[in-house]
Formats: sequence, C-alpha cells, structure tokens
Amino acid sequence: MNDGNIFGDSPYSIVFRNPELLTAFALLVLCEILWRKLYRKEAYGAAEAAASAGIALGRAVAKPVMIFALAGLYIFVFEYRIYSFDMSKWWSWVLVFIGADFLFYWMHRCKHEIRWMWADHSVHHSGNRMNVFMNFRLGWTGLIVGTWLMHLPLVLAGFPPAAVITTYALSLVWQAWIHTDMIGKLWRPIELVLNTPSHHRVHHSRNPVYLDKNYAGILIVWDRMFDTFQEELDGETCDYGLVQRLNSNNPVKIAFNEWGNLIRDVRAADNWKARLHAAFGYPGDKKAVLEEQARLLMEREMTKPGPDQNRPAPAAGE
Ligand SMILES: [Zn+2]
Ligand SMILES: [Zn+2]
Repeated sequence: MNDGNIFGDSPYSIVFRNPELLTAFALLVLCEILWRKLYRKEAYGAAEAAASAGIALGRAVAKPVMIFALAGLYIFVFEYRIYSFDMSKWWSWVLVFIGADFLFYWMHRCKHEIRWMWADHSVHHSGNRMNVFMNFRLGWTGLIVGTWLMHLPLVLAGFPPAAVITTYALSLVWQAWIHTDMIGKLWRPIELVLNTPSHHRVHHSRNPVYLDKNYAGILIVWDRMFDTFQEELDGETCDYGLVQRLNSNNPVKIAFNEWGNLIRDVRAADNWKARLHAAFGYPGDKKAVLEEQARLLMEREMTKPGPDQNRPAPAAGE
C-alpha cells in the first residue's frame, strides 16, 4: 500500500511518479495559462495556484501518518473477508471498479452533507477559480473525518487492498483532468455516462441551482440514479467557491477554515442537540442556498409544459 514515498496515494503522487502523466499535466497547465490569457483575456490566478501547491505540500506531510495508521487496518479487515475474488479474472476488476466508484459517490455525498466531513472536504471547494491546480486542494484531516472508511466494505467483501487502492488511483487520475474551464461539453454519450469537466464545474459551483450536485468519481450514472445530477446550463455561468467565499491564499487558513467555523458554532450552541447538529448536521451556511435551490426546482416544475399542453386542442363537439 505504501511505497515509502511521502506523497502517498494522492493525485500529485500518481502524477509525479509517472513521467508521461507529469508531461501531460505540465502541458495541461500550459494550455490553460495560454487559453485563459489569450482567449478569455483573464489572469490565471498564480497566487491561488501557489496556495493550492502549498495545501498539497501540507497534505504530503499528513498523508504518511494516515497510510501508516491504515495499512494495518486494511490488512486486518482483509483477513476476515467474506469471499476471495480472483484478481486474475477480468470480471473481478469490473466488479471492484464499479464497487469503488459507487462507494466514492456515497462518501463524496456524505462529505458535502455532514458538517464533520465537510470541514475537511471544503478545502477542495475553497478555490474561486477553476483550474487543474484545484486537484491539489485536498484536506489534511482525512484520518479524523473517516474518509478511509470508504473502501473497507470492498476489502471485507474480498477484494485485495492493493486492487482497491488501484481503482482509487484510477479515479484520482480521471479527476485530474476534469478540473478545467477550457473543455466544453463532450460528445453526448460520454456526458451521459462519465464525469466530465462540464459536470465537475457544476459540482464546484455555488449557484443555488448547482449546489451539492454531481458527486460522481468516474461514472456520472450514480448522480442520475440517486437524483443529484445537474446539467451545466447555458444561461447559468458557474460561480466557483464556497458559499461563504474564502478570499485567502494562506494554505493553513484554507486547511482549517471550516474546522474553525465548526468549533465556533459548537461553542455557540446552548444545548447538546444543537451542538451535535453543529458538528454532524447539514452544513449551516449552505442551508439557505439549498432552500433557494428547492424553490427554483419547484418553479421549474410548475413552468414545465404538461403532456396535455402540447396536444392540439380537441375539435368542438369531440
Ligand atoms: Zn466535493
Ligand atoms: Zn473537484
């Protein structure tokens, strides 16, 4: 599970350990800089990109601790597996891929809807611009919030930890290229099945209609299935960042901002129910935006032409 590299199994470690991926990443950054400067006539946001790199460095320190703590747990759980999948069979890989992507969807959804987990994941959503550096904004406190629980059911089911980690790495590599404004909507069948730059732009947006949508890792089908899908709309430009915008490029401030808010709200609460809600309920600052989303959805439903409205009016006497 751990090859001793301080970067651990993170998107940057996978990219930095593979020269081909590193070259592809450097080209992507270069294209983005040129596209933004020449086509959009906007600044790239070097300070924000540097803050993202700073967050990546902090995580590189936190990651080995997490891996050290968890490697033993994964091996221990595997000892008690229910079944033993033969990884020399292709269908075992299909099953572990589908299982891991399904669990990624639910874990990601929990990270948005449970404040305790949002405190860590909000780091990924703290950037106010969309570019590939957004990949580097990952929280430092995954060990505390329990992100590592995500893959344990697969290990318990009987997939070897190495196979599970491989599918996780695949998911991270896929997500590395979808953090960009540069790529528009892709061919319709791709947009129907896979998580694309367009779908992930929606995920990073704070517009009421886009908030807490598109949790997918690789397959967008989970969002379609569980009613959290939202298409990127022509008239609705993505407004990136947190609901309470964070205008800081200090990596430490970004990494602990939401933890600070959580502690403040728990201390301000005057009873245990309120304290528990502040720590584990739906993140309070997003509530008003979510209510606005519900109102917009209702409005959209009401203005939708009904099946009868499209039919020609019946002739008199019919
Ligand atoms: Zn997210
Ligand atoms: Zn993202």
